Amino acid sequence: MKVVVLAGGVGGARFLLGVKSALGLPATGPAPEGAEHSVTAIVNTGDDVWMHGLRVCPDLDTCMYTLGGGVATERGWGHAGETWTVSAELAAYGAEPTWFALGDKDIATHLVRTRMLRAGYPLSEVTAALCQRWQPGVRLLPMTDERVETHVVIDDPDNPDQHKAVHFQEWWARYKASLPAHSIVPVGSEEAAPAAGLLDAIAEADVVLLAPSNPVVSIGTVLAIPGTVEAIRSARAAVVGLSPIVGNKPVRGMADACLAAIGVESSAEAVGRHYGSRAHSDTGILDGWLIAEGESADVPGVEVRDIPLMMSDVPATAAMARTAIAMAGCRVD
Ligand code: GDP
Ligand code: CA
Repeated sequence: MKVVVLAGGVGGARFLLGVKSALGLPATGPAPEGAEHSVTAIVNTGDDVWMHGLRVCPDLDTCMYTLGGGVATERGWGHAGETWTVSAELAAYGAEPTWFALGDKDIATHLVRTRMLRAGYPLSEVTAALCQRWQPGVRLLPMTDERVETHVVIDDPDNPDQHKAVHFQEWWARYKASLPAHSIVPVGSEEAAPAAGLLDAIAEADVVLLAPSNPVVSIGTVLAIPGTVEAIRSARAAVVGLSPIVGNKPVRGMADACLAAIGVESSAEAVGRHYGSRAHSDTGILDGWLIAEGESADVPGVEVRDIPLMMSDVPATAAMARTAIAMAGCRVD
């Protein structure tokens, strides 16, 4: 079975651990030779940013480190056993920005990536090269090989009667999404194309899943790349999403602030309606929508089920993935 998963960073990576486990693959590390099932993750790159001359791809790296068994589990991102000497040295120089933490080990990843990008390799090939080391056991595809960066329009903190667009990372990591967002824009998406192999992966998939990732700045950004929604809508596979919103709140992080910016209520029903029905609308992508146990949601044209939706450990997450795969009409034993 071929499973395609649209994913962001921490939520996407955790969900991918469960998908692998549900398919009988080791949650971390490489798939066994000749494995019957395969997973392609289409990962958000709207969070990507240039920092101190290095290209940083937070969501791709979170997926790569998590699935490669090297993530710092207490944080959910970055390397286990990380040290911060270079960041401290940069701060000693007053080198801005100082609000974005770059670990020493992580910097090696960004050095390899930046060098390859500068030599002309597309991000999808660079990611494949980095994965040679990490062996995540899934194919990690950036949503696009082109530069697309999410920007957030806020009130200018220095000039309160003016608006200012900042990089998503500045809004998220520096201001912790505390400054209300007037809009969230994936800058460059309109001219971008899906990464090489992405549309074929969707067309060939037996199951397409939307991880319980941020609906705006993770899944929304992936869907903003022209051609992606059309490919999902015309896929032969059924499309099933999982809600990141439980009890009208994001399980972790500040997705509610992102939803407010696009005028979508923070509820599983509203997010399901935002993704929309493949059958009942011209732009919708869902056949199935999984919401948290005990909740209800009316999403016209979409089969909705409530199940335990907390990714507390790999078995719990694998159970979520198994239900999603079954809802898409496929079986794993
Ligand atoms: P990021 O790029 O690191 O922010 O991660 P993602 O966009 O992939 O995932 C973030 C989303 O995951 C948040 O909106 C959370 O609400 C959601 N999330 C995190 N843990 C869980 C969980 O255990 N269950 C569910 N349903 N959602 C979760
Ligand atoms: Ca992210």
